[in-house]
Amino acid sequence: MTGSLLPPKSFRISKKNNLFDLLDFHIHIARLPRPEEISRALVRRGYKAVLVACEPWEWERIEALLPLWKDSAIPCFGIHPMIAANLNREELAALRSLLHKYPQAFVGECGLDKRFPGYAPGEIQESVFQTQAEMALEMQRPLMLHSVGDSRRLLKILEGAGFSPTCGQPIFHRFSGDAEIVKRAMALNALFSLHLDSFRKKSFCRALPLIPAERIRFETDADESFLMPSPEALESNLQECVRRFEWLKMERDSENL
Ligand SMILES: [Zn+2]
Repeated sequence: MTGSLLPPKSFRISKKNNLFDLLDFHIHIARLPRPEEISRALVRRGYKAVLVACEPWEWERIEALLPLWKDSAIPCFGIHPMIAANLNREELAALRSLLHKYPQAFVGECGLDKRFPGYAPGEIQESVFQTQAEMALEMQRPLMLHSVGDSRRLLKILEGAGFSPTCGQPIFHRFSGDAEIVKRAMALNALFSLHLDSFRKKSFCRALPLIPAERIRFETDADESFLMPSPEALESNLQECVRRFEWLKMERDSENL
């Protein structure tokens, strides 16, 4: 498979399927400059999004932005592994009440990240993640996952918390896992949210045929590091992600003929 090749400029997204819908499954809108202005412009363009907030200051800003988005957004509230080591009980309690206040909200993003304190097995990242996984099951909410370093350990924690083929829905955000991770995640009824970076990994490109299209979503993961954030740039980033997916899928189908 030549999956690393970029689609030619002339390759257009097929408008026949729902993948073309402007649905950004993971965006940190509150971390962008001028979030109100960008939100209004995106909604006018028909953009839909999962608005992710993964630390207390970000929760508050997302709450303030939600009225601008109306039915075009779903909030996602959680605690990122980058702040797990500094978390206090009150913040966990605040997360729980926020999730009760917004019955449609997803839980997360949460998970494990080797770049931040408390990552080793048995340390604080695990317990903060496990608490959120249990909350998601208890409240029957999708769980937005962040995984850098050890997807197998993360899957084990999900399985231990009670996720199963018929219980819970994990979302693998910025997914670039290999075939083994895909199979284990599929067994937990997972969704896979793809980012432009997902396509850099050869092992992911090889595993992609294992994922049915209805389990795929696309995302910008735009935050303070997103270069020149504008409604146009966000929209074209998302569309480029769909284009790469369709190109790869087309290549794969032609190889299987
Ligand atoms: Zn994120």
